[in-house]
Amino acid sequence: MSEDCIFCKIVAGEIPARKIHEDDEVIAFHDIHPAAPVHFMIVPKAHISSLADAEAAHEGLLGRILLLAPKLARQEGLHTGFRTIINTGRGGGQEVMHLHVHILGGGSLRAM
Ligand code: 5GP
Ligand code: ZN
Repeated sequence: MSEDCIFCKIVAGEIPARKIHEDDEVIAFHDIHPAAPVHFMIVPKAHISSLADAEAAHEGLLGRILLLAPKLARQEGLHTGFRTIINTGRGGGQEVMHLHVHILGGGSLRAM
């Protein structure tokens, strides 16, 4: 756990969140400021600051997170598809420095 990390605090149960999944390595919860009708994040419980800080030892964890994305998207009613975003670093617009994968959908997302 990294002190002053908001997602570590959510993992520890110190800050409430609308959780939709939890297992030994990963949690998922709705974004507090949704950018689409459905917007949640999949977050490793371990504090990894960003995708740029992930290491070979995290290979399985990263795979687990990506494989969870379509499962949770279906669970949340996104039957026609969803968008997956990982913001990395200042240049990537990352605001919370704890790796997370955004899943968005439920509206008409514009092509990128
Ligand atoms: P980033 O820009 O780092 O990729 O995304 C961080 C996301 O975390 C933002 O979409 C923001 O709305 C969300 N967020 C920030 N603080 C909280 C919080 O305390 N609870 C929840 N559920 N989401 C948060
Ligand atoms: Zn953290």
